[in-house]
Amino acid sequence: MHSINDAAGKILSSRQTVALTGAGISTSSGIPDFRGNNGLWKTYNPSIYAHINTFRSDPALVWELAFMLHDLAASTAPNEAHVALAGMERSGLLQGIITQNIDSLHQRAGSRNVINYHGTVDSAECTFCRIGEPVRRAALPVCSICGRTMKPGFTLFGEPVPPSAYLEARNLASYSDVFMVIGTSAVVQPAADLPFIARENGAFIIEMNSEETGLTNYITGCFIKGPVEQTLPLLVNKLNRRN
Ligand SMILES: [Zn+2]
Repeated sequence: MHSINDAAGKILSSRQTVALTGAGISTSSGIPDFRGNNGLWKTYNPSIYAHINTFRSDPALVWELAFMLHDLAASTAPNEAHVALAGMERSGLLQGIITQNIDSLHQRAGSRNVINYHGTVDSAECTFCRIGEPVRRAALPVCSICGRTMKPGFTLFGEPVPPSAYLEARNLASYSDVFMVIGTSAVVQPAADLPFIARENGAFIIEMNSEETGLTNYITGCFIKGPVEQTLPLLVNKLNRRN
């Protein structure tokens, strides 16, 4: 079963539907896949600019990348795929989004229950006091309590996923009846575990990607091929007609 009709039927009979999103949902908003051929990691070597060890030795270098990502996200807007998911949540057909993206475009599209699995570019945090605050585009952000240089609010290489996001995401996945994998090949750990946790707990997997992934012929129950900014609005149309 590989059609939008089938996916809509599963979602309409589900009590808890959860979406895991990745780079593919934001590319048409103008945010390149970091890992792609024209990806940011070709310009900014992540083992230098995005590594926790660099933050410890030369935080200005990491903030150079963080300010660039902050400005990039601020210059873009949510696309039809983000809007479609926000609409599903408002209609009671989507209970949560787990996103690997750090661009906050789900929130800007109106989604409310969003787990930022890798943090966001909008915030800075003190690794000592654990306080967070919005990124202000100035000199290096300094903690107002202890005076230390704050860290960008997204997960750097060599760092674990924020523990609260990790636990909340596993919970959402394990209690879902339908688990949607959208715009991601879900190969980066530990997010890669989430579709399998959902499947092991009985969820039906709907995958929406422009190309097949390692999940497609393995645990995916319904594969909808195509750019998600086109396929997600089609799915929402179907849902609205049958809801
Ligand atoms: Zn502090």
